[in-house]
Amino acid sequence: MAHAESELAASERRDALKRVLAQARACTRCPELAATRRTVVFGSGNANAELMFVGEAPGASEDEQGIPFVGRAGKLLETLLEEVGLQRNDVFIANTLKCRPPGNRDPLPIEIENCQEYLHRQVELIEPTVICTLGNFSTKLLRADPTGITRLHGQPEVLTLGRRAVRLYPIFHPAAALYTPRMLETLREDFARLPELLALGAPEQPTTDPAAETATVPEPEPPPELDRPGAPQPARGAPGASERGAEPDQLGLF
Ligand code: URA
Repeated sequence: MAHAESELAASERRDALKRVLAQARACTRCPELAATRRTVVFGSGNANAELMFVGEAPGASEDEQGIPFVGRAGKLLETLLEEVGLQRNDVFIANTLKCRPPGNRDPLPIEIENCQEYLHRQVELIEPTVICTLGNFSTKLLRADPTGITRLHGQPEVLTLGRRAVRLYPIFHPAAALYTPRMLETLREDFARLPELLALGAPEQPTTDPAAETATVPEPEPPPELDRPGAPQPARGAPGASERGAEPDQLGLF
């Protein structure tokens, strides 16, 4: 389930992702989220994966553990993966927002805008063949269109993100299926099509011309206060401090 012939070597992908992770962990673009989060939940899994999932935002368990989809919705996601012969380690799992919205409220449009650069960098570095968007937020963001998941689920489409064409496959969010048997059935049916979608391989890629180079997603700017050597670091307990303390665990995620 990993790239057969990678444009980037797996180790290069991991190293580059770790650099983006370091930037995300210091991010204070959303002051409320930066002040209330315990960890930045960057994403986890196989940096060389063909299949990437994009959910909504971390919940309480994810915020605590620094890993996406570790709560009940995550367990269902793992079960559905197993049913199609896949494991968590075969795929990469990320979210639209990397920080937990307090009280699990919906992500705000400004937060989605602030955070989208990290997701685009992840896509650019992982180069997945298939991106499975889970629910409305990631589907609307990556399609740049307000059409909802109820209309779109189960319908793959080829989409160009940055320099890469990917197969986008919107499906219902597992959390929505937890309490609605009919939705779980639909989610299962949509999941069952994943193997055939992956078997198609990468879609035809856009030809790269010099103008396209300028359209790539730049590395997110590190916050200026953390960019300078010798700059003061946040005190323990301050926004951004806890995730720096947890660095070894986070870096072991991919
Ligand atoms: N729901 C999400 O969208 N993401 C998580 O990480 C957990 C639950």
